[in-house]
Amino acid sequence: MINEISELYGRRLIATNLSDQLKNDNRLKFTNGLKINRSWIICKRCGTQTKKRLAKLPNDQYYCPVCIQMGRIDTLNQLVYVEEPNQFEAVLNPITWNGELTPLQLQCSKQITQNFVDGKDHLLWAVTGAGKTEMLFNAINWALENGLRIALASPRVDVCLELFPRIQAAFESINISLLHGKSTMNYQYCQLTICTIHQLMKFYQAFDVLIIDEVDVFPYAGNSMLHFAVKNALKRNGTKLYLTATPDLDLFRMIKHHTISVSYLPKRFHNHLLPEISLLRQKKLRENINVGSISNKLIKIMRSKVEAKIPFLVFVPHINDLEILKRVLGKYFDRIIFETVFANDQNRLAKV
Ligand SMILES: [Zn+2]
Repeated sequence: MINEISELYGRRLIATNLSDQLKNDNRLKFTNGLKINRSWIICKRCGTQTKKRLAKLPNDQYYCPVCIQMGRIDTLNQLVYVEEPNQFEAVLNPITWNGELTPLQLQCSKQITQNFVDGKDHLLWAVTGAGKTEMLFNAINWALENGLRIALASPRVDVCLELFPRIQAAFESINISLLHGKSTMNYQYCQLTICTIHQLMKFYQAFDVLIIDEVDVFPYAGNSMLHFAVKNALKRNGTKLYLTATPDLDLFRMIKHHTISVSYLPKRFHNHLLPEISLLRQKKLRENINVGSISNKLIKIMRSKVEAKIPFLVFVPHINDLEILKRVLGKYFDRIIFETVFANDQNRLAKV
């Protein structure tokens, strides 16, 4: 049940579960969730166009089958929206992070802040381990001080879960809302939101600044529904900041056409270049895994990591290989704990 009008600030939700008191508030704007024409229905939440015959309900009404996992939008329900008022308490220099940036990081950080000030879209192109998150802190600090509403969105839940405590520690006094499909937390109106890109579908012209992480990877890349969500969640004159380690063709095109400016950081925070990958070919790997055996070469590599106390990941081609590998590794490293995880693992979030 939605009781507080602030829960609707900058949000566009299915208009059920509104408290009686709230229903009559004249700030609420109602709109149909679906646009219907001769042979198509167009969903306002996910932007998808669906053939009428694929979207028909038994009672001759229509629904959007594409975004149904977020609650059914149909011709019997309306969407409700309240304009974003930026009703935040004034804060002065809320940053509590006191780490130091390298000169290169500092340069990128200044460029990002300047683009926030100028309201221009920007790309931070930095290798994995370059300290992307830390380079955002000054710009976020500026946005918070200036009463802007900010969202940091990632295609992946894991990334949101990892970012949340780091950003909270960097801005201790700021309430941050963490939103993802598996969250059981109640929604709270906050100046700073960390969420999956899917969650942006519940917002409408909410954010002055939208930071989008891992723009070049699945599921964001090439997904028109998520692009639609980003566009809708951002205010008309809002600013986007893209983060990536590996820009795709779309981003290069935007750079070339000067639609976005770019900060480039090819080095990691300790100023070393990325290690070069060395490739080792292993004959009969499949057969070996099937019979529960691992080559000495691989064991030797893993042993050196274990002895140096370096955590490491092993990727395998099939889910079924996980248990085999875990069992085999247990024989070689009896005091080391190995954990396995895969996309649909029930305990995935806890394990990660
Ligand atoms: Zn939809």
